[in-house]
Amino acid sequence: MNPATGEQVGSVPVDSAGDVAAAVARIRGNQPAWEALGFKGRRRWLNELRDWLLDNSDRVADTLKSETGKVRAEATIETPYLADQINFYGSKAEKFLGEQKVRPNTMLAATRKLRLQYRPYQVVGLISPWNFPLVLSLGDAIPALMAGAAVVMKPSEITPLGLNEIVDAWRNEIGAPDVLHVVNGGAETATALVDHSDFVGFTGSDVTGKKVMARAAETLTPVSLELGGKDPMVVLEGGNMDRAVNGATWGSMLNSGQMCISVERIYVEDGAYDEFVEKLTDSVGELKQGIDGETAACDVGAMTMLSQLEKVEKQVDDAVEAGARVLTGGKRGEGPGQWFEPTVLVDCTPDMSVMEDETFGPVVTVTRVSDEEEAIRLANDSRYGLCASVFGPRGRAEKVARRIEAGAVNVNDIVFNMLAPGLPMGGWKESGIGYRNGEYGIRKYCRSEAIVSARTLLRSEPLWYPYTPERHALVSKVTKFIGGRGLRRFR
Ligand code: NAD
Repeated sequence: MNPATGEQVGSVPVDSAGDVAAAVARIRGNQPAWEALGFKGRRRWLNELRDWLLDNSDRVADTLKSETGKVRAEATIETPYLADQINFYGSKAEKFLGEQKVRPNTMLAATRKLRLQYRPYQVVGLISPWNFPLVLSLGDAIPALMAGAAVVMKPSEITPLGLNEIVDAWRNEIGAPDVLHVVNGGAETATALVDHSDFVGFTGSDVTGKKVMARAAETLTPVSLELGGKDPMVVLEGGNMDRAVNGATWGSMLNSGQMCISVERIYVEDGAYDEFVEKLTDSVGELKQGIDGETAACDVGAMTMLSQLEKVEKQVDDAVEAGARVLTGGKRGEGPGQWFEPTVLVDCTPDMSVMEDETFGPVVTVTRVSDEEEAIRLANDSRYGLCASVFGPRGRAEKVARRIEAGAVNVNDIVFNMLAPGLPMGGWKESGIGYRNGEYGIRKYCRSEAIVSARTLLRSEPLWYPYTPERHALVSKVTKFIGGRGLRRFR
């Protein structure tokens, strides 16, 4: 359904648990040939996908716009992100996963040649949410494919169309090997994917993430969990106020606030508070919300999921009832379609749901703090730790950033860490386990295998059977030497 109009735009068949098992078995059979292609061979197919995505970016954006209710500008950012990921992992995969020589570093191991290789899991299962339907599914499939794994993706049941279109093109237009597949459905389909995959990459809420981890524990399947956030922003006195206001507006309202790394709590030092709040209220109040056509005419789109809209509305209503003040917005927009007005709240207290729980909507709260110590304490007072931002004079802002408990902190900037593939992105606390991007974002799809080769030309070793008296005497001598002198001198 198009959340901006309420009209149905498409449908996909639901895959049963049996369908998932069959799909996984099929692509498992194709994985060895894919791995055997090597980095160059796999990169060639992914480059074909990149070119297809760039050639068809308008078509893909139309589909995304229709199933998410995003504004056009936001529907067009997913394909360049994917192209960037392909270029990044296409050029770096071999460096991150190539065989490594390892220095022995101990006396005993010095007699051996040590190497480390990374071997992919055969089937990686990816389960993703609806807010960025391609970035959070295909974006994570790219490093898995480059590592040599086969991938089955389960998009959100709310937004499956764009991903199905691309996987159809991978198979039928590009003619690439059958190692990338989509299964459709809700919890039952996703659970089957957890059961049959060798590694599970999950992006979604912390509530579902915990279920995924519990289910995966039954088969001891490793998981990475990219979960929710309640991202703080700290505004210090003496910085560029317009940049801070602009960053806060975009960071909290981008994708209608339906972003894991959305700014949800802002803490402003006393001396900057009044000016910041006045400017932020104007800036958020001026945003144009609605449906745009071929060109960008609106800033903020619809809310993709009805139950999410209801959750946002309840958080705001409860906060207002408990004493919070709405400076702009504060209620649902007119239908058809699912809308919530861009909203700024002040006078919130830490015990309110809007301050504790993820909002995932176009709502931001602003709180006055006496100094940076109070800002850091309140910013860290959360069960989440996904991302954060600090605005202010750079030296002081960077010092504050280093004390924030989060997987990434942007200084005088917003959201940008997501666009720097060289850096890991992951959550602390209940925001997740594991990382996407960087070296870790591809190594997680592999098992490490240590290769230990003996250098010695001796037929057998003093440590081996049979334990004859001569061998025993030799072992004792060696042990005494190592224990008595060798280890104390070893560097
Ligand atoms: P969700 O947890 O409801 O659903 C995510 C996916 O899990 C969907 O595909 C859904 O079908 C599937 N699912 C549902 N029940 C399941 C089960 N029992 N076992 C396995 N899978 C199951 O989340 P959502 O509403 O789609 O997305 C919003 C959430 O995603 C927010 O909390 C947001 O912060 C988070 N998110 C995190 C990141 C990140 O990178 N950390 C990025 C985007 C969104």
